[in-house]
Amino acid sequence: MGWTDERVATLKKLWLEGLSASQIAKQLGGVTRNAVIGKVHRLGLSGRATPSQPTRSTFKAPRAPRPVSSHPAPRRIEAHAPPVPRPVIYDEAPGSATVLTLGAHMCKWPIGDPSSDSFTFCGRVSDKDGPYCVQHAAVAYQPQQSRKKTSANELARSLRRYI
Ligand SMILES: [Zn+2]
Repeated sequence: MGWTDERVATLKKLWLEGLSASQIAKQLGGVTRNAVIGKVHRLGLSGRATPSQPTRSTFKAPRAPRPVSSHPAPRRIEAHAPPVPRPVIYDEAPGSATVLTLGAHMCKWPIGDPSSDSFTFCGRVSDKDGPYCVQHAAVAYQPQQSRKKTSANELARSLRRYI
């Protein structure tokens, strides 16, 4: 395909609008980017302010901002907090010990609602250093455990009169 007057006019128009040589080549069709550049030079149009970096870019969308990590702060708090055992109310089978039968070396893991008659303690043999059995100690000291803070605090308060 040659350079008809019409195509040259289009080339001039697009070039002055700020399109890059490759964009113009695409619009015209049938010519390469190099052919466009050569024609631009021959027409004496190359004096455009920034021919290699068109001010108008139809291709690049603005970059999306980087996604902000949603949980660095809680992690830091967790790291500084001492590992305090916080019992969690679980739906689990009633324990073998009650307030009356709970002994020194029995797991003091509370099971159920402390204000109800069905409230029990785990009652299994407790770990040598802690108030809980191995399984419940693992739960109590687990840092990632999602806890219901208020219910854990309420529980601790209500247990103070027993332990
Ligand atoms: Zn236990």
